[in-house]
Amino acid sequence: MRKLKNILVTGGSGFIGSNFIKMVLNEDSFLSGIEKVINIDKLTYAGSLTNNELYQNDHRYIFVKDDICNKEIVNNLINDFNVDAIINFAAESHVDNSIEKPGEFIQTNIIGTYNLLECANNKRLLNGNSILFLHVSTDEVYGSLSLEDEKFTELNRYKPNSPYSASKAASDHLVRAWNKTFGLETLITNCSNNYGPNQNEEKLIPKTISRAISKKPIDIYGEGKNIRDWLYVEDHCKAIIKVLTQGEIGNTYNIGGLNEISNKEIVGIICDRLEVLYPFKENPSSPDSTNTKKINSYSDLIRFVADRPGHDFRYSINTKKIQDGLGWEPSVNFELGIEKTINWYIDKLT
Ligand code: NAD
Repeated sequence: MRKLKNILVTGGSGFIGSNFIKMVLNEDSFLSGIEKVINIDKLTYAGSLTNNELYQNDHRYIFVKDDICNKEIVNNLINDFNVDAIINFAAESHVDNSIEKPGEFIQTNIIGTYNLLECANNKRLLNGNSILFLHVSTDEVYGSLSLEDEKFTELNRYKPNSPYSASKAASDHLVRAWNKTFGLETLITNCSNNYGPNQNEEKLIPKTISRAISKKPIDIYGEGKNIRDWLYVEDHCKAIIKVLTQGEIGNTYNIGGLNEISNKEIVGIICDRLEVLYPFKENPSSPDSTNTKKINSYSDLIRFVADRPGHDFRYSINTKKIQDGLGWEPSVNFELGIEKTINWYIDKLT
């Protein structure tokens, strides 16, 4: 088991990064004994310091508002804090935005990762101390499956379909090359869709909850048949800690929730759970009261809109490698995870 003292987390004010830091700073985590967690985050629209509030006064936590593309600052952080591992969460992460404005995705996801790899490698070359580089990536690099296709394994070909997944695929390739060519100690994780607290409201689950609570139309792309594999964010963070401390260097690990659900079903489940947790009340002055359609329940807010271009049909993850090799498996079932998530957003939004 690897012992790590000082870790540099990139994008730690976003959804998964902030949950990861919370877990790492918790004494019960696998990483207890940690001395410093440095979070470098540019604070784009997707990052927020409120995501870090729980531990902002922990003496082991340091926040730096900056860009992973800034070589000087990354080099300084690595040297000043004697960093022994980098966990790279920082990314532009929303597929819709990548279709509108791919440039930022190329810059942060590809150039940013390249910059971090170079900084990590410089440290190794200068003083022989190797830095472990864990790159957090997505199942979307493998492309799209039909209903009959086998789940993605780590041996699947990369076939990204969106500018987002293509930029993540490119960054994965860079990480692999820095291991093979320069001997940098790297690990890659490819995970399915996460849900849980702190996720930006542009993403399907928080967007649905937020739109429902504010009685705004809930849009579903196409016919809502697209299937995703959903994993509770804490389970993803536990898997990352497993890989970080016990993963075989140079390897890739797929992470998934073994929980495939269509978008239409997800929205339906959320509307049904909300009826129990935050019952629908008719509000005659709401903007929708002018509509001809009467809104009596959350599910009446659902509407189907034109599909997005290149929309992958299905993702599904084979988790055998991480299960057999590192003894990780998802622990939060969807019923419990979605209830916790909905309650968290109700507290936040009402
Ligand atoms: P997010 O969009 O919520 O957070 C990204 C964070 O990175 C934000 O805090 C943002 O401010 C920061 N950031 C963006 N550009 C930066 C830059 N140039 N320099 C420094 N910081 C920058 O994303 P997330 O959902 O937490 O995803 C984290 C990582 O996990 C991403 O790499 C994503 O590809 C991957 N991933 C996400 C999911 C998912 O379902 N959310 C699934 C699998 C993999």
